[in-house]
Amino acid sequence: MEETPNTSVTAPSAEAPTDFIRDIVREDLASGKYRPEEIQTRFPPEPNGYLHIGHAKAICLDFGVAKEFGGKCNLRMDDTNPGKEDREYYDSIQEDINWLGYEWNGDVKFASDYFPKMYEFAVLMIQKGLAYVDDQSADEIRATRGTPFEPGVNSPWRDRTIEENLDLFQRMKDGEFPNGAKVLRAKIDMAHPNINFRDPVMYRILHEAHQRTGNQWCIYPMYDWAHGLEDSLEGVTHSLCTLEFEIHRPLYNWFLEPLPIPRKPRQIEFSRLNLTYTVMSKRKLLRLVQEKYVSGWDDPRMPTVRGFRRRGYTPSSIRNFVAAVGITKFNGVTDMGVLENTLREELNHDAPRYMAVLHPLKVTLTNYPEGQVEWLEAVNNPEKPEDGTRKIPFGRQLFIEQDDFQEVPPPKYFRLSPGREVRLRWGYFIKCNDVVKDAQGNVVELLCSYDPETKGGNAPDGRKVKGTIHWVEASNSVSATVREYDRLFKTPEPDAVEEGHDFLENLNPDSLHVLTECRLEPGLAALPPETRVQFERLGYFVTDWRDHKSEAPVFNKTVSLKDSWAKIVKKG
Ligand code: ATP
Ligand code: MG
Repeated sequence: MEETPNTSVTAPSAEAPTDFIRDIVREDLASGKYRPEEIQTRFPPEPNGYLHIGHAKAICLDFGVAKEFGGKCNLRMDDTNPGKEDREYYDSIQEDINWLGYEWNGDVKFASDYFPKMYEFAVLMIQKGLAYVDDQSADEIRATRGTPFEPGVNSPWRDRTIEENLDLFQRMKDGEFPNGAKVLRAKIDMAHPNINFRDPVMYRILHEAHQRTGNQWCIYPMYDWAHGLEDSLEGVTHSLCTLEFEIHRPLYNWFLEPLPIPRKPRQIEFSRLNLTYTVMSKRKLLRLVQEKYVSGWDDPRMPTVRGFRRRGYTPSSIRNFVAAVGITKFNGVTDMGVLENTLREELNHDAPRYMAVLHPLKVTLTNYPEGQVEWLEAVNNPEKPEDGTRKIPFGRQLFIEQDDFQEVPPPKYFRLSPGREVRLRWGYFIKCNDVVKDAQGNVVELLCSYDPETKGGNAPDGRKVKGTIHWVEASNSVSATVREYDRLFKTPEPDAVEEGHDFLENLNPDSLHVLTECRLEPGLAALPPETRVQFERLGYFVTDWRDHKSEAPVFNKTVSLKDSWAKIVKKG
């Protein structure tokens, strides 16, 4: 039995969102600690992958809080680890934040720009007797850290003089020692109950070129030491991060305490976003890309911001979803269905309706004049009468969906079958009189008659039909490719694998169906990429961001009309 994911959400409200973080900011304003324009947050991505929906939560919070209270939010590339430049990630991060509807304060910031200042502060820590150079190896340091139940062991180098430490640290910086030969450690307490306080490493030696600073540095700062300094140097007031940093917060504060920083930032933690049927770690997403399980970071099945974008999600649907999930201190897994519902509600209101036939079956209206085409009126969006109507062609040759016809209709099947009459959406009643089959006995064409009196969908004699189906007129229709997607993973928590197993074993082998030779009403081909529409009775679709062209239309299925998945899961 699969675990039931957490589906409870607070209703999105039109008013300003409220949560414990926003309450803290409100208090800081009310108490006069900060003026509105002083409120400052930051979003600090490591530029080593594309942004995913979890990052979107952090972005909506960091940028949202700043915007709501009249403050600023910095975009800071957290590039404290040397590595090669990845322009692609760096560019995509900025583009995705803009797409989500946010703008950062001033230029993009880089953690590496603060290396000189961080070094100065480290020297100050040594001068205050709060840091020392340790010659132990990484393994020795790990082995002497102790456990939550046993204290650690002091390093034999812990009591070096300030002068000696200053000299050695300088020489570490100057490149005199090989990788791993020495580290700079904070001098706190090797018996501290919080293991993070047992003389944490502040700097390590790494003779490796950095994407921005080149070979200027061969010592690199560790996260706990660096992050609070970056925040302080930028004037961040509220440093919002995910819960796993809660246990690091006392250290964040300890490092800032002795330094000449007039206004200390406050770190506040909130729970990460987790979604069912997907994975969120960049390392795992990278594997999906590199091992070609998906077409790229923007594959519409990916939980990346651009995957969702290409799938047809709107920036507002993602923002509203984040608002609906809310900001709390409790880790949980949110049902993917919640995200889909947020989008569905929006598209139901906004998306213009069209007709498209994905699995075409030919229909000939034997009593309709050969060569004649008439133009019928169709409502663009019943939810938005102001969007008006359009003209759609009607003629002797039509296409309907294969499954809207059954030669032997099962009970409660109200669509087309021999001798049965149905309504064509925005058109006429038609009746099936005969079927044409191929050599294998497959139905390849229906011979029908239409009732000219039923134009617009009603019979003057008052007779009723039970079924209404969609269709397109053949001679004016355009051929298109339509991609239908299913969940990328077949289990709700694909990360939860037993020892010796790999999350890739949980991939859904059947998550993409490419339908070619679909038939669309003519107006659909000319739409620009990234246009969202409803195909009547079929769902919401979007013209593909990358591949759609009016000569060769490509649509991606965004989401179904109803939450059919919930039903399937219940049944299963
Ligand atoms: P990953 O584990 O996917 O590599 P990360 O935390 O290492 O993620 P960063 O680039 O360091 O990725 O993240 C930038 C910011 O986004 C951080 O402040 C981090 O807390 C936040 N963030 C990352 N994942 C999530 C998530 N699932 N939910 C909410 N915030 C997240
Ligand atoms: Mg990280």
